[in-house]
Amino acid sequence: MSWYRRAKLGITSFHNLTNSTAQLYGKTIIPTCKPPTTNFQRYYNVDSAIAVASGIVVVASGIVVASGIGTLYAMFCYRGLRIVNVPFTNRKRLVMPTMMHKRIGDDALEGCMIKYKGKILDEKDPHSVRAKLILKYIIQGLERQVKCNPNSNASGYYYDGFNWNILVVDNFIMHAHCIPGGTIFICVGTLQALTDGEVAACIAHEVGHIVAQHTVEFQHPNLNRCKREFEADYIGLLLMASAGYNPRIVVEFWKNMILSYPDFSKGDHEHPSYEERANSLAQAHVMEQALTIYKESWSEYFVNLVFKRKA
Ligand SMILES: [Zn+2]
Repeated sequence: MSWYRRAKLGITSFHNLTNSTAQLYGKTIIPTCKPPTTNFQRYYNVDSAIAVASGIVVVASGIVVASGIGTLYAMFCYRGLRIVNVPFTNRKRLVMPTMMHKRIGDDALEGCMIKYKGKILDEKDPHSVRAKLILKYIIQGLERQVKCNPNSNASGYYYDGFNWNILVVDNFIMHAHCIPGGTIFICVGTLQALTDGEVAACIAHEVGHIVAQHTVEFQHPNLNRCKREFEADYIGLLLMASAGYNPRIVVEFWKNMILSYPDFSKGDHEHPSYEERANSLAQAHVMEQALTIYKESWSEYFVNLVFKRKA
């Protein structure tokens, strides 16, 4: 039976029932299944109001969402906010607008120059000459990675616009740090205590921070802050290998540090312990990658040497 016939049968039965009941009590009862017109009108008005209100809410939500998307789009397009991968590790993150990078770098440089006023060694000082030469090799190692892998994430935006420089601070402690834009500060104590390979590891780590643009990325609240240190260690390892320094030196360096110095990084949420750093860099796949780069860089060096001599 179709729905129409069922419905009609139901209505007819109801009619018959009410009529028979009315006859029983001697009066006619008009079935009032439907609400009175006035009430119906009222129901209709309520439904209409809800519909209108819902419409307004939907339109308002649409406007809010659209304006949010529009604002984000404008920020991405015109303010330069970008999601970019960290070179060498491919970690995705949001970085500040490009126009802010230079300003942050300039402000940081100005602040450091005030802080170290009268303490920066002359460019001709042997410590400065040594540090600058090692930085030059590390940057050549970086350029080599960019040249060798033109389609990899090692090449591209991040390399342009850096003004590489290293300044030696007349302070007899072991410390180095960097600022965005390409300037590294290294204390003379570091240069006195470490071999060339160890100094190269230290400088390559700072170059790793700079090329990864750690200072201009938005920090995810759930990101382990040590992650950036591990990332700079890893990039630094590859860069020092590419510059011709044996990457095994770094692992030995951290192991010696464990034996020789108290680990000040314990309880520090930003820096991993010496042991964690040594273990992270000693991982088989990490060291294998660095050793491959190291061997390739020396092969290239000898090929160039022979080729130049023949020429
Ligand atoms: Zn660091």
